[in-house]
Formats: sequence, C-alpha cells, structure tokens
Amino acid sequence: MKKKGVVLAAVAVVILAAVIVCDSLFSKTASDTFLAMSTAVSLDITGISSEKAAEQIRQEIIRLDEKLLSRTNGNSEIYAVNNGEAKISDELILLLTVLKEIEQESGGAFCIGVAQLTDLWGIGTENARVPDEAEIKAATENCYGWTIDYGSKTVHMPEGIKLDLGAVGKGIACDYACKIASDLKCRESVVAVGGSVLLDGTGKKTAFKVGIRAPLGEANEYCAVLEITGGCVSTSGNYERFFEDENGNRYHHIFDPSTGYPADSGLLSVTVVTESGAISDALSTACFVLGIEKSMPLLQRYNANAVFITEDKEIISTFTSDNLEITNDSYTLGEVK
Ligand code: AMP
Ligand code: MG
Repeated sequence: MKKKGVVLAAVAVVILAAVIVCDSLFSKTASDTFLAMSTAVSLDITGISSEKAAEQIRQEIIRLDEKLLSRTNGNSEIYAVNNGEAKISDELILLLTVLKEIEQESGGAFCIGVAQLTDLWGIGTENARVPDEAEIKAATENCYGWTIDYGSKTVHMPEGIKLDLGAVGKGIACDYACKIASDLKCRESVVAVGGSVLLDGTGKKTAFKVGIRAPLGEANEYCAVLEITGGCVSTSGNYERFFEDENGNRYHHIFDPSTGYPADSGLLSVTVVTESGAISDALSTACFVLGIEKSMPLLQRYNANAVFITEDKEIISTFTSDNLEITNDSYTLGEVK
C-alpha cells in the first residue's frame, strides 16, 4: 500500500512538471521592434512558435512595404501603378477591391486617390504650404476616377491622379501579422504598426486595456482606457502631422477629398476597433473626415466601434461605459447627438 502511494505521488510530480514545462513553452514571448512603413513597428508574440512567428511577421511587413504598398520605393507595385499602367498581382487586386468598396461606402470620405493632394500640401515635410484653389481643384477633381481592370489586371488612373495607401497600409500590416500568428497557433499577439494595433488574445483569459492618447497632450499621455477582448485598433488624429502658417492657422494631414482641405468635422481624433486592420485603419481616416453623426452608418456597415474625441474635449463612444474609462479630468464623457 505504502509503495503504491509513493508511485502515485511520483506520477503526480511528473505530470505537474510536464504541465509546467508545457505551459512555459506555450508562454514563450518573442519581442521585436523595427522601422517599416515610415513608422515604428513593435511585436510581442506569445506561443510555442513565437520566435518563428515574430521573424515571419517582420519579414512580411517589410515585404508589404517595399514590394506592394509604398509609393516611394521603386520596387513596389503601387509605385509602378503610379508611374504607368503596370500589371498588378492578385494580392494587390484584392486589397484595392476592398479599398474601392470603402471609398464608396464612406461616400468618398476615404479615397486613396489623394496622393497628389498629399504632395501638394506637403504636410510633415519641409515644403508644407497652403496650395492655391486651382492646384487643389486639379488634385481633387478626378481622385475617385481610379478603377481596377480585372481583365488586364491593371489599374486605370485618370490624368494627374496617384494612389496613396498611407491611410490603410499599417492596418493591412496588422491583418498579415494576425494571419501568421494564427497559422502558427500563437496564444497572444500584440503588433503595433504606427497608429494601428493588432490585439489577438486567442489564449488570453483577461481583456486587453488600450490607452487612448490625449490629443492635446504629449505622445505618452492618455485620456481614456478601453477594455476589449481583441481586434484591431486604429487611431487617426489631427495632432500626428500638421503645420502652422504665418497667421497661426493650423493645417493637418487628413483631407476631405470633397474640398481638398484638411477635414474640419470638429474632431481631434477617432479610434476605430474592428476585426480587420485594413478596415479599422481606413475607417478611422474616413470617420475623421465624416464627423460623428455621418460615421454611424459606416461603423454599423463594417461592424465596428469607435471612440471620438471632439474639439470640446468630449469623448463620445459607441462602446458601453463598462468598456471605456476616462482617466484624464480635462476630458468629459459626451453622447451622440
Ligand atoms: P491616417 O493617419 O491613417 O488617418 O492616414 C492619414 C494619411 O492618409 C495621410 O497622411 C495621407 O497620406 C492619407 N490621406 C489623407 N486624407 C485621406 C483620405 N480622406 N482618404 C484616404 N487617405 C487619406
Ligand atoms: Mg487610417
């Protein structure tokens, strides 16, 4: 009897040790930071294949930037499209199809045909300036005219129009990262690509807490904390890139394609949360242009939620108050009017 007890105890110890070893293998976290898409990328991936996943994600984001989405890298497909009617890959056709749909669903508030406008204003560069009306008209009048020719696998570009995927590339990178992490059965992935963050908590027992930046504060100051179980979170804000003219007028980098001027919808920032990074990123830009009321049908269409911060420092959200906590006294909770 005594011997049987000893054997059982030994078996229990072995099982416990195996569980501890397995758990520590599955809880292995790989982290990385690097620069891509003109921004900082950071990865924290947990799982038995975390190192492999982190390496694949790094390579994939760099490939996406250099070979597909960049409009300045001479090796990218978008560069080729902007410089002639190049044949494009099925991968890019798929992405552009989604972006054309969002352009239409947003009533044109989101439009990747704004590259000429972006260059004209030069916001964030040494050449930032307020263009004259004729220049703005020329850069905007055909911006919705780009079309995909599915037969020849080319993109038709109207005269003077070029594509700029700056509003959506970082979110697309989050989608690719999510696919790799899920194929490699990772437990938890946090991938931040500039203003878009993938939070995948497949094996996580608690919710993620996401700090929402105080638009009028420093880069590390938050005004609210959002609790979510996962998804992609993208923020567009007028504090990211802007310039002031000699009269103190401030111009930021998110344009209303219908006017050609920086969007003026009474907002300082919009944070959008949904399953897909491409959609959260595109929608954060679109909602910034549309303003709160006009954003609602678009958010519903894509099953997305948003946190808007107005110029009056009101925080207005489609999340319930259980999910959102205001952490900075100078901001107040508002309601959709
Ligand atoms: P985001 O910070 O994601 O809102 O993206 C802003 C960037 O997207 C800008 O710097 C421009 O390159 C580009 N952009 C500006 N306005 C628009 C717009 N209305 N639709 C699509 N892209 C835009
Ligand atoms: Mg965006």
